[in-house]
Amino acid sequence: MQVIQLKAGQSKNFSVGRSQISRAPGRQVSIELSGPIEAKVTGSQVVPGSQVDLVGDVQEVNSTSVLVSATVTARWIGECTRCLEPAQGVMNVELRELFSENRVSDDELTYRLDPEVVDMSDMVRDACILELPQVPLCSTTCKGLCSECGENLNFGRCGCS
Ligand SMILES: [Zn+2]
Ligand SMILES: [Zn+2]
Repeated sequence: MQVIQLKAGQSKNFSVGRSQISRAPGRQVSIELSGPIEAKVTGSQVVPGSQVDLVGDVQEVNSTSVLVSATVTARWIGECTRCLEPAQGVMNVELRELFSENRVSDDELTYRLDPEVVDMSDMVRDACILELPQVPLCSTTCKGLCSECGENLNFGRCGCS
């Protein structure tokens, strides 16, 4: 299968030309794309300026729609909700999304398909926003802060009873 690779800094990081797909054998191409994405929820955000990766394939379903099956990988940072120290992690999101030129309203579960390109930036951003932790932890075993003196109990016991 034909592989389309685009790395950071190339224009339209998460886009693939429609003609590249329709000309490919089986009307399907593999994609390995990466670029920065701004995505933020209460509690965490995609590491600003970091590279978000999109790996998978794009298949032409018919003349007005394509199907994207891919995995989004992104690094996130936030503040631990128990101890308030920095928290971080990596998220992997599996996607299977339909893009259609015939999308009529925002309520539909499809992305708008441009006649020339498949622009997957919104899809990548949506995936990140859905997956970002709203209650991030520095570690699943974080002991948090003492409710009496506020000391970080991960660094040892405080003097409170
Ligand atoms: Zn913590
Ligand atoms: Zn204490």
